[in-house]
Amino acid sequence: MTTKQKQAYNKEYRLKNIETLREYHKKYRREHPQYLDKHNQRTRKDWQKLKQLIFSHYFNGNIKCQKCGIKDIRLLQLHHYEGGGAKQRREQLGNPNAGGSTFYYWLKKNNFPKIKLEPVCANCHILIRYDTPTIKKYENNENRKRGK
Ligand SMILES: [Zn+2]
Repeated sequence: MTTKQKQAYNKEYRLKNIETLREYHKKYRREHPQYLDKHNQRTRKDWQKLKQLIFSHYFNGNIKCQKCGIKDIRLLQLHHYEGGGAKQRREQLGNPNAGGSTFYYWLKKNNFPKIKLEPVCANCHILIRYDTPTIKKYENNENRKRGK
């Protein structure tokens, strides 16, 4: 069996047995809380590494909120400064609400496509969204229509 065949087999197995596996992992995590901590630490570390990579690539040394100047990368998010973030997520990720790591992994996987992004902190990001006129959101198809 080649690696590709193995991957296909594993994927099919996971899909077929998703409920059983879910139960198994749930039980395992409950019975081994010590591994959960380790797992969370690793996940957090991977996430920080990915975020650093994305921000370094797109903002090359200018990693700070473009509104208030805060430099703590844990607080920074990617902002589509010409709008259309939800539209892009819907078209390319299949879900307008797929933000965070899904979008970051997508950027990496697609070799850092040229997208108009800027770093802003979570608070400024909320204010930007709050201040964006609804009409503009509709023009950009950013109104949240779940399941459409
Ligand atoms: Zn800010």
